[in-house]
Amino acid sequence: MSILRGPILRVAQNGWFQAVATRSPAGRAVARRFVAGETLDEAMEVVRKLAGEGFSTILNLLGESVRTPEHAKAAADAYTRSIREIRAQPGLDCAVSVKPSQLGLDLSSALCLAELERILEEAEEAGIWVEIDMEASASVDRTLAVFREARARHERVGVCLQAYLRRTATDVFELPEGSRVRLVKGAYLEPPEVALQRRRDVDRAYARLFVTLLALGHSVDVATHDPRLLDGVRRYLATHPADRARVEFQMLYGIRRDLQRRLASEGYPVRVYVPYGTEWYPYLTRRLAERPANLWFFVSSLARELRPGG
Ligand SMILES: Cc1cc2nc3c(=O)[nH]c(=O)nc-3n(C[C@H](O)[C@H](O)[C@H](O)COP(=O)(O)OP(=O)(O)OC[C@H]3O[C@@H](n4cnc5c(N)ncnc54)[C@H](O)[C@@H]3O)c2cc1C
Repeated sequence: MSILRGPILRVAQNGWFQAVATRSPAGRAVARRFVAGETLDEAMEVVRKLAGEGFSTILNLLGESVRTPEHAKAAADAYTRSIREIRAQPGLDCAVSVKPSQLGLDLSSALCLAELERILEEAEEAGIWVEIDMEASASVDRTLAVFREARARHERVGVCLQAYLRRTATDVFELPEGSRVRLVKGAYLEPPEVALQRRRDVDRAYARLFVTLLALGHSVDVATHDPRLLDGVRRYLATHPADRARVEFQMLYGIRRDLQRRLASEGYPVRVYVPYGTEWYPYLTRRLAERPANLWFFVSSLARELRPGG
């Protein structure tokens, strides 16, 4: 992991920086590289275009850490609208991904579960998968509890697990039978007692978790752009062809399109995570922190705009 990740995420949380970045045309332009648009219509256009190129998709309405039950309800309403929109387009393989804190997890688990339930009912009728994103480590217990309850009532609900968390090595043994798990490295700033800090350790944990999840009978969405991990997964599948039906590749919109195309052309299922909405700032900062070159591009675009006469 980049040593600049911590400082970048801390600076990004500064209120002044956030205000400048979100209001400036340069900030919005950089966000457009990673975000499909601000409206559902714009996102659906991207979803249809990707479908035409042979990719399935997973739609995510940006937004997190809501402060009132009304905001949680509004987010769930927006998700049910997006599910109806997906359903109206026959043959489109598009799932949805929700953030627990966007559905009110920080207010109460019961609220989050109730809002998630509304989304799952709508999705079940439409035969659409819903995946639960994983956020900062303090919410993992509550998120997994919500997932277990939801999974007891619905087939098509999956959850994300983060390879950098030390606890994930045991969490994988406590999942409901035949779960669908999106395996990621992890995008939040976590202390060493909670999360592995060295890239090599995270990559090793990722590979171990991938094999363990499959051995335990779960399905794995391999959500990474790391060419070495992707090669390892392809080699594994070549020698374990029976596991192929339980593995899908997932990548983020706008990142490593070369790898997305290569895997799809080799016949692997590739799903692109398509975020949309007006609340793109926290998502963008995580993408900037993953790759300092992105930050450099972002800061220089802002600086050009802020320069007198610029
Ligand atoms: C579909 C999907 C869903 C996700 N959901 C979650 C979630 O719910 N919770 C969570 O904590 N994290 C989530 N993540 C993010 C994840 O945890 C990582 O932070 C992110 O994927 C970057 O790590 P990497 O695995 O690609 O490997 P890295 O080692 O970080 O990157 C490997 C290569 O990918 C490219 N790359 C990676 N990131 C960027 C970037 N931002 N810009 C440009 N190039 C880049 C670079 O070429 C880099 O060398 C998700 C990721 C994906 C793909």
